[in-house]
Amino acid sequence: MSTLVLIELNSDQVSANTRAAVTAAKLLSNKVDALILTNNSNYAKSVSSIDGIDTVKLITDDSLEHVSSEVASKLVSDVMDGYQYLVAGSSTFSKNILPRVGALLDVQPISDVCEIKSSNTFVRPLYAGNIMATVESIDPTIILTVRSTSFEHAPDGGSAPIEQLTVDIPKSNSSFVEIQESKSERPELTTAERIVSGGRGLGSKENFELIEKLADKLSAAVGASRAAVDAGFISNDYQVGQTGKVVAPKIYIAVGISGAIQHLAGMKDSQVIVAINNDPDAPMCRMADLVWQVDLFEAIDDMLKH
Ligand SMILES: Cc1cc2nc3c(=O)[nH]c(=O)nc-3n(C[C@H](O)[C@H](O)[C@H](O)COP(=O)(O)OP(=O)(O)OC[C@H]3O[C@@H](n4cnc5c(N)ncnc54)[C@H](O)[C@@H]3O)c2cc1C
Repeated sequence: MSTLVLIELNSDQVSANTRAAVTAAKLLSNKVDALILTNNSNYAKSVSSIDGIDTVKLITDDSLEHVSSEVASKLVSDVMDGYQYLVAGSSTFSKNILPRVGALLDVQPISDVCEIKSSNTFVRPLYAGNIMATVESIDPTIILTVRSTSFEHAPDGGSAPIEQLTVDIPKSNSSFVEIQESKSERPELTTAERIVSGGRGLGSKENFELIEKLADKLSAAVGASRAAVDAGFISNDYQVGQTGKVVAPKIYIAVGISGAIQHLAGMKDSQVIVAINNDPDAPMCRMADLVWQVDLFEAIDDMLKH
């Protein structure tokens, strides 16, 4: 039994999601290969050094710099011959490609896997994480995306050989136009060890800047509730929750966030949760390890001073 891991690169770096996928793949089979679709063959080196990868399969072409999901899914499904599993980290990258691979191979992908029970049985969240479903696959080929927060991130330490694949790149009906991404000096939200997250309680975009100041003081990433995003306090790149990012930092400081189930779904695996809220009955206060029942502006002022 062998497993193919679809590699997601952030610039030339292997994403944290992908490292979690390699760890999950190693739990499934002894042979784990990695597939990279890229315009730059140099990127294969960082993948070959991940511990646990047997062979790096490389498809390079200039057109793959911003590969469309139609093209990527066709290339991945063609390489799947002989593999029992296809694994990728849960992200917009894999959400874009793996369902199409599933359609091409006529199998049902299983997304957001949090635990591997056996070779065909997996645990995944339902209803915003309120239920953990154990699902069994009867498909001959099993396609999984795995949660980055549920598996260790495979470290460097390997030296897998790189095999260049010669394939015809299919034509696509869509073409890349532009990418707009927010750049930040702060830690990346999904892999940060500390997160300061703000909610509607902040009251305005100007006040939300206090969250950013506090995050900078604590070398933390900034997060937000959907209410804060919808109110225009910050862009939706920072939203944590069911329809935002899933995070599991060492410490999550929730400032003026009530703790609706859709928000908790994205941060409940944090190691230590601190709620700063003036309502002790807010669900966030019930979930938190530490509750600071105070006006949030006083709390932030205090923390910025010391
Ligand atoms: C399909 C669906 C998907 C959703 N996905 C998400 C998601 O991914 N992420 C998400 O966050 N939400 C999501 N939501 C929205 C979610 O249901 C809540 O509406 C949202 O999380 C509320 O945000 P909030 O806690 O900032 O606001 P509120 O619920 O209004 O809470 C504000 C909190 O601030 C406190 N507060 C106010 N002023 C102060 C003060 N001066 N000092 C101290 N405390 C103060 C209040 O006590 C309150 O607890 C989703 C909803 C739906 C229906």
